[in-house]
Amino acid sequence: MQGPTHLMLSWYFAESAGVRSARDRRIVAWAGFAPDIDVLAYAGAIVWYGFDKDLAYENVWQLVHHRYTHGLSFVLLTGVLAWWLASRTPARARVALLALLASAIHNFFDLVGGGPTWPIYPLWPLSDFKWYATWSWTIGAWPNIVILFGCLGAMLLYARVVGRSPLECFGDRASAWLTGVVRQERRSDSAAAGRLRWVIWVSVALLAVAVLAPLGFNPFG
Ligand SMILES: [Zn+2]
Repeated sequence: MQGPTHLMLSWYFAESAGVRSARDRRIVAWAGFAPDIDVLAYAGAIVWYGFDKDLAYENVWQLVHHRYTHGLSFVLLTGVLAWWLASRTPARARVALLALLASAIHNFFDLVGGGPTWPIYPLWPLSDFKWYATWSWTIGAWPNIVILFGCLGAMLLYARVVGRSPLECFGDRASAWLTGVVRQERRSDSAAAGRLRWVIWVSVALLAVAVLAPLGFNPFG
């Protein structure tokens, strides 16, 4: 599944678990995204190979992705990091546990929505055991795209109804901005609100393209 999908799903997970502070919700959400930090290796490789994406893909991304950060050891590391970062409240252990779970769920989702040719390595570095499901769909397949857009749509709706959203992962101000936009639009159908709504939808579409383009997703072919 795509990184932004993991981030949003984990935020909803924290929200549904009743995590009170925005900071702790952020920790759980980013913990759910964390296994995909290996994308940094891909970004580094693209630069290393002089922006030859195919070479970077073959020599680095294909070997690195899902291998070192999609397993038990990284899940545990995420839990420890979350414990260290979480607010010093009695709920601290709970936040760490939720973060650990979010990281583990990420692996499960990648198993389901990653394709049989892209296994995860749950026991690395103890074992090179590959885990994949023959019935799983590939990363660029339509269910992943439907889930991504479902999460984005839910984000707008959630911001409107509850007053916060997964955009909180990027700061309270980002979240407050989105809430302001979607609520203003409900109260008055002013031209400015209408324009802003278009800006948001175009941004969502561009984001989807940015996510899907590196995967070789081509809607016309
Ligand atoms: Zn992943």
